[in-house]
Amino acid sequence: MDSITNVAKLRAKPVSDRPSRRQAEAAVRTLLRWAGDDPGREGLRDTPSRVVRAYEEFFAGYATDPVALLARTFEEVEGYDEIVLLRNIRLESVCEHHMAPIIGRVHVGYLPDRRVVGISKLARVVEAYGKRLQIQEKLTAQIANVINEVLEPRGVAVVIEAAHQCMTTRGVHKPGVTMTTSRMLGTFRDDAATRREFFAMLQTSPQSGCEG
Ligand SMILES: [Zn+2]
Repeated sequence: MDSITNVAKLRAKPVSDRPSRRQAEAAVRTLLRWAGDDPGREGLRDTPSRVVRAYEEFFAGYATDPVALLARTFEEVEGYDEIVLLRNIRLESVCEHHMAPIIGRVHVGYLPDRRVVGISKLARVVEAYGKRLQIQEKLTAQIANVINEVLEPRGVAVVIEAAHQCMTTRGVHKPGVTMTTSRMLGTFRDDAATRREFFAMLQTSPQSGCEG
């Protein structure tokens, strides 16, 4: 598969038969009744419209094109050829099996080849894929793949640590359990020294900087 086909695959597919807001609110009323409550009572009267607005936030990623986010790059990097690492990007996602929150953090590293991207763009890529229905493994791969395809760096490393509320508040009820996933591409996959350097950088805590 050529690279253009790969990039096309990474773009969001628009939903053709999207229901109206009114239909979405009616569906919430149905779920309220299913839960055993009365959607007509005072406290629940505005809940369907609030839930639909909340869904707009939870799933805002469907309206964002991660490929476009990474399109603007900088080539004047004065020969910089070391790892660029963005640590502890807050992750708020929704599990596609239970529609329960996935909360965690993402670390994104890449080894540039001529081009770098603004660091806020990496965080926005995490958000673009995070604010969709997800499983953590797929999310990890999507973030790494889009950086790899669009920036064409020498390598990409993505690590996600997250707690799944479908495991903590229901089912097996295991609070405190987190899941770690990683995807290594290019030199991070092929070269043990680069991979070691990446994980060493993840562990060092910065003495100064903007981290609040
Ligand atoms: Zn789940």
